[in-house]
Amino acid sequence: MEKHELVIVGGSAGGIQAAICAQKHHGLKDILVIRMEEKAMVPCGIPYIYGTLGAVEKNIMPDTLLKEAKLKVGEVVSIDRAAKKVTLKDGQEIGYNKLILATGSNPLQPPIPGMDKKNVWFAWKNTDYLQ
Ligand SMILES: Cc1cc2nc3c(=O)[nH]c(=O)nc-3n(C[C@H](O)[C@H](O)[C@H](O)COP(=O)(O)OP(=O)(O)OC[C@H]3O[C@@H](n4cnc5c(N)ncnc54)[C@H](O)[C@@H]3O)c2cc1C
Repeated sequence: MEKHELVIVGGSAGGIQAAICAQKHHGLKDILVIRMEEKAMVPCGIPYIYGTLGAVEKNIMPDTLLKEAKLKVGEVVSIDRAAKKVTLKDGQEIGYNKLILATGSNPLQPPIPGMDKKNVWFAWKNTDYLQ
């Protein structure tokens, strides 16, 4: 089973900052960041995609910020704290010494009449959806 000194679930603003901090301030070298999306959005830039930026591709968070940390695209579906491992949706198991959860949030969709109409949109931080 693949195993890492630090596994971070979430590769957006919080997860990337956690990886930078672990490298810079704690000297960790073996870090794996797992996130569901291939490319992470700069969330604060989402409104500007449809204005000054003009394109989803211009609002991608650079993975170079991760420096030496490795990146894996996948969904963590369970955590076994006793065995110190996470399991991905595809069945892959990954062991850890330390685990950080930076899984963020998704937009709440309140049950307001009309929410299901064609031109009601949500700010999902997902490149395909935003396209
Ligand atoms: C339109 C918009 C504008 C904003 N503007 C500002 C602003 O101007 N200033 C400001 O400070 N903040 C702003 N924010 C808030 C900011 O986006 C959030 O504070 C920030 O995104 C939180 O980062 P996060 O890493 O905690 O979570 P998220 O950005 O939600 O990222 C969560 C990460 O966890 C991953 N993940 C979740 N579950 C799993 C799983 N089971 N397995 C694997 N990976 C998983 C996701 O793939 C993702 O990579 C804005 C947000 C939006 C939507």
